[in-house]
Amino acid sequence: MLICGNVKAAEFAELSTYFAKANTASDPKTVDCTLSGGTKAKCFQIAVKPVPTAHTPGPWCPDTIADNADKGGIWLDSGQVHDVTGAFVKDMATFYSDPKWQLYDPATGKVRVTDTYESCAGAAKPNAEPEFQQHCVECQVDYLSADKTITYTIPLKPITAKQSSQTRSAGSGVAFDGVRLEGPAPVTDILGNYTLAPLDDCGGHVNLNVGYHYHAATDCLEKTAAFTDHGKAIGLAMDGYLILARVHSDGSIASDLDQCGGHTTAALGYHYHAGEQGSNQILGCLVAEHGCVSEHQDAQCDASVSVKKGPGSNGGPPDFTAAANIIGISEDELKNALGTQPSDFEKAAETLGISADALQKALGRP
Ligand SMILES: [Zn+2]
Ligand SMILES: [Zn+2]
Repeated sequence: MLICGNVKAAEFAELSTYFAKANTASDPKTVDCTLSGGTKAKCFQIAVKPVPTAHTPGPWCPDTIADNADKGGIWLDSGQVHDVTGAFVKDMATFYSDPKWQLYDPATGKVRVTDTYESCAGAAKPNAEPEFQQHCVECQVDYLSADKTITYTIPLKPITAKQSSQTRSAGSGVAFDGVRLEGPAPVTDILGNYTLAPLDDCGGHVNLNVGYHYHAATDCLEKTAAFTDHGKAIGLAMDGYLILARVHSDGSIASDLDQCGGHTTAALGYHYHAGEQGSNQILGCLVAEHGCVSEHQDAQCDASVSVKKGPGSNGGPPDFTAAANIIGISEDELKNALGTQPSDFEKAAETLGISADALQKALGRP
């Protein structure tokens, strides 16, 4: 597939073609949308099932401390990719210079893995209960409800933002295999629970909220990439620019990338190159106004609401989408727990199995 013309204003039909191999839940369409900077625009909208089509997810956690690399996934730390072998799990106390790390039974060598829906849900949140700590965390794709969909609403023509935005709440974008290109994994929260949440060798794992998603761009994405003379386009950023693989077709790496990972070339215009696999950063930030990602197919996209009323801002209702993302639950679960205003934070936090502090923080309240 060859990308022709000015992809800065990618045509709807062209984008639809790129997603041809995705697990789509409904045909792509053009919708009205309000971007993060308040610009009213035309957006490309696609609803996908959050499961890859070109590879089988996993494995993540090895069964025993004797297992080799093909029984486990990878872990990203300090810019490096580490194979999660049995030996890696065994040596975690040394790796993190903390004797409390003990993810396996020393008597049998069996790795403690979250092997039920309840344990994966319980371990994958900040301040997990002690019973869910000291586990290698993995959630299976079949824990997701069969009708789970994620809808992306992304500007057809990128609108440069007054300032760049972080990828932590909006995410980086969506790969052409229909899988979310997430913002950075919350490594501090994960390690704080004495848990390890490996990615599979394709850089992905499952969260019950967003489904299977990537924290690293690997070769796996090249199976569904669109080829350009400059490199392989692996997905679409939340602000409408293309994301290319880190390495160009000729093996070179761009040397003039900005802090978000983008640059401009004559043939392609502005575009991003995905960060190194070990960086825990597919995109450093977004330079243009971003669109929306939602668990509801019929949701109207107004990304400016999240930005105006989001965490850290003064006044206005909290950004439930961002808060739910931070906690690792669905927006509906969060709203149900909070109930009708005024919310009883202590009670809601207890329902969610997190501390009231963590809940307040996620909601951007002091
Ligand atoms: Zn994740
Ligand atoms: Zn480039």
